[in-house]
Amino acid sequence: MGISKALLQKYAELIVRTGANVQHGQVVQLTVSVEQHAFAALVTEECYKAGAKKVNVEWSSDTQRRLNFLYADQEVLARVLPWEEAKMKQMVEDLPCRIYIASDDPDAMNGVDPHKLSEVSRSRSTVIKPYRNAIDGKHQWVIAAYPSVRWAKKCFPDLDDQAAVDKLWEAILKTVRVREDEDPVQAWKEHTDFIEKKAEWLNAQGFSSLRYKSMNGTDFTVRLIPGAKWEGAGAVNSVNGAFYIPNMPTEEIFTSPMAGECEGTLVSVKPLSWNSQLIEDFSITFENGRAVSCKAAKGQELLEKMIAMDEGAAMLGEVALVPKESPVNQCGFLFYETLFDENACCHVALGMGFKEVLPDGDNLTQEQAKEQGVNDSIIHVDFMVGADDLNIDGIRPDGTTIPVFRNGTWAE
Ligand code: ZN
Repeated sequence: MGISKALLQKYAELIVRTGANVQHGQVVQLTVSVEQHAFAALVTEECYKAGAKKVNVEWSSDTQRRLNFLYADQEVLARVLPWEEAKMKQMVEDLPCRIYIASDDPDAMNGVDPHKLSEVSRSRSTVIKPYRNAIDGKHQWVIAAYPSVRWAKKCFPDLDDQAAVDKLWEAILKTVRVREDEDPVQAWKEHTDFIEKKAEWLNAQGFSSLRYKSMNGTDFTVRLIPGAKWEGAGAVNSVNGAFYIPNMPTEEIFTSPMAGECEGTLVSVKPLSWNSQLIEDFSITFENGRAVSCKAAKGQELLEKMIAMDEGAAMLGEVALVPKESPVNQCGFLFYETLFDENACCHVALGMGFKEVLPDGDNLTQEQAKEQGVNDSIIHVDFMVGADDLNIDGIRPDGTTIPVFRNGTWAE
């Protein structure tokens, strides 16, 4: 069994040509697990065929990372070493195309102190952030997945290793539209055209708020930021104009709502995996834009802890529209990986919003974006509210109401 060489080739090509859209003469930075070295070679070759000047590989290992966190001191892990910084300086100079292959075991960090994890990432990000900001919007990047055995076994614990990996492969290839008898590049063109058309339509409507209703108890209104854009599918590198697709798969059209301005109850339709633990059958009620109560059949304490992580954790940073026909939804299982799970159906996220949705957002600081209504927090946690009977109305400033979603999918 296993996936055919031809399909793997198609997938690697899709990631490089359609996802990252590697341009002639560009440097590529490929981040990939040591376990996926054979696929790394395929992707590397595709990059060179696309005209890459040089492909640099950043090898990762979730096992190694886990050991570091179990044994090394927090202060040691929190320090960004001079050679790491030199690498980032080089990145600002090269503006490389970045390709990230996700394959981590969802349970890799089980047993690691979550406080240690967040403190290390917090102090490292103070050093890393200026470099990130310097390349933001100025380079192409893509995240795509490759199934590892441990990830596949997490999704399908009852299957043996090979069967689990095969099943996860089947699902991944379905969601990224890679099939034996079809040209995935053409399939993606149609898909991204569709998403862009919908995003354009939403932007033209000028909705000031959205109202959600479904039979499961969801009854919710959220205000939008005037002038904030709905975005989806692709992005454009502002330096060279190259169109790229940051997430493969991608089904969502999203924006950041006005932080602190929503009312009502949202009922989740899928389990939520947070810090390697599950929160199931839950709802969250908002007043004056903040989550004031929550109820979960499983993981109540965890959910409460999440919402209390910091000032912004109780407010929304994202609303996203995904029709229920999404191939991720059709797969019908939890991937334990946001790249997939957030593309199942309509969702919102608690925590940090996206400043890019504001006019000239790329050039704003987080603080300036916050003044305009984009939420800020150390968390960004998506949860799914796209019930099969979900209706969403868009409301214009003059009160006109337009159907956006009917029965879990686009009204028209
Ligand atoms: Zn999203």
